[in-house]
Amino acid sequence: KNYTKEDIRQMAIDDDVKFLRLMFTDLFGTIKNVEVPISQLAKLLDNEIMFDGSSIDGFVRIEESDMYLIPDLSTWMVFPWSSERGKIARVICEVRKSDGEMFEGDPRNNLIRVLDDMKKAGFTSFDIGPEPEFFLFKMDADGKPTLELNDKGSYFDMAPLDLGENCRRDIVLTLEEMGFDVEAAHHEVAPGQHEIDFKYADALEAADNIQTFKLVVKTVARKYGLFASFMAKPLSGINGSGMHLNMSLFNNDQDAFYDETGDLQLSETAYFFLGGLLKHARSFTAICNPTVNSYKRLVPGFEAPVYVSWSGSNRSPLIRVPSDRGNSTRLELRSVDPTANPYLAIASVLEAGLDGLKNEIQPEDSIDRNIYRMNEAERRENHILNLPDTLHNALKDLAADDVMKEAMGEHLYESFISAKNMEYNSYRTQVSQWERDQYLELY
Ligand code: GLN
Ligand code: MG
Ligand code: MG
Ligand code: MG
Repeated sequence: KNYTKEDIRQMAIDDDVKFLRLMFTDLFGTIKNVEVPISQLAKLLDNEIMFDGSSIDGFVRIEESDMYLIPDLSTWMVFPWSSERGKIARVICEVRKSDGEMFEGDPRNNLIRVLDDMKKAGFTSFDIGPEPEFFLFKMDADGKPTLELNDKGSYFDMAPLDLGENCRRDIVLTLEEMGFDVEAAHHEVAPGQHEIDFKYADALEAADNIQTFKLVVKTVARKYGLFASFMAKPLSGINGSGMHLNMSLFNNDQDAFYDETGDLQLSETAYFFLGGLLKHARSFTAICNPTVNSYKRLVPGFEAPVYVSWSGSNRSPLIRVPSDRGNSTRLELRSVDPTANPYLAIASVLEAGLDGLKNEIQPEDSIDRNIYRMNEAERRENHILNLPDTLHNALKDLAADDVMKEAMGEHLYESFISAKNMEYNSYRTQVSQWERDQYLELY
């Protein structure tokens, strides 16, 4: 969709657009909106819209508080729902400094930079197929989420139609109206949990899609009196929500991970990329699992990965090679959760893979047995490391890896680590109900 300014002007008239939502994503993956009336369209198309960046997380640098929003016209999209006063269109914007230079604290700009490095390394695209999972909770009278799940269903359940099923169908149809190619939508393992998979796209578009997807899911769920949450582990004792990333590198029309004659029909490129992913897995975990709560998902027993390993046949490892070959050859990273900033997460795994290629990093042998049945000694023998078990430990690994610094750029890297350390410390100093239940009467 290479829209020209003229196309945009025409579409705005044809679709009777009354409001423009100028979207970008902050450090934490939250979508930020500046909404302007359609009368500002000319200004937008002339790159003249300014906003105050000093109030945005991770953007804070007083001297740069005036920033420009430069629309990426290819992301123009009219929301299928409308406000009482007419339709709303969104366009994703690039953030630039007041001197017109690219702002290095914009995660989307950063991904564009890393994609340029990939092109220099000789590839044309990095394709991402995400599998986001989420829970639907009932809302109370004030529109606040309760912890009451909406159903008792389970994986691929075909139970009698309930609110959740209807809501999910509505989400899928809304996404399709917006141009998404939805490949699968199903109930997940936990009650009230769902997954919707949409077609892979080039990294930048995939990250944009993930952001739009979350907005659509939340908006449609509200219509049903439900609250959609992408929190990684909202309830203990049942599965958490992941966002597996299927990834492949392309050379024009050629999947660079495929080689008919290779081991498992994987190319040398695939093996080196995999080697890089495994090598940096512990350090990109803080980026792909960025909340205190994310680490409550990465525990044994709930289909989420705990160890750094890969397999061509087993479903439990960190990285899986799904059985499709040819141009569908891909690696599936299973640690990522939907609280991750998709621009940063994708940049970090791409940089890790490219480092594997550059330094010809061979992956350890695949582990096709169930790692969860191995004891610690057996895991050590097989060189199987653990993923970090807390945000604190994950941040230590991130802070020690220069390849990840390269993946985020210095500005984002430093702000991320310091903001997340503060978040962890705030958590660490809280006394929880669990502690009082355990200790208050005992001592
Ligand atoms: N919910 C699981 C996770 O946390 C994944 C379940 C599945 O897709 N098989 O990653
Ligand atoms: Mg899936
Ligand atoms: Mg799933
Ligand atoms: Mg999967």
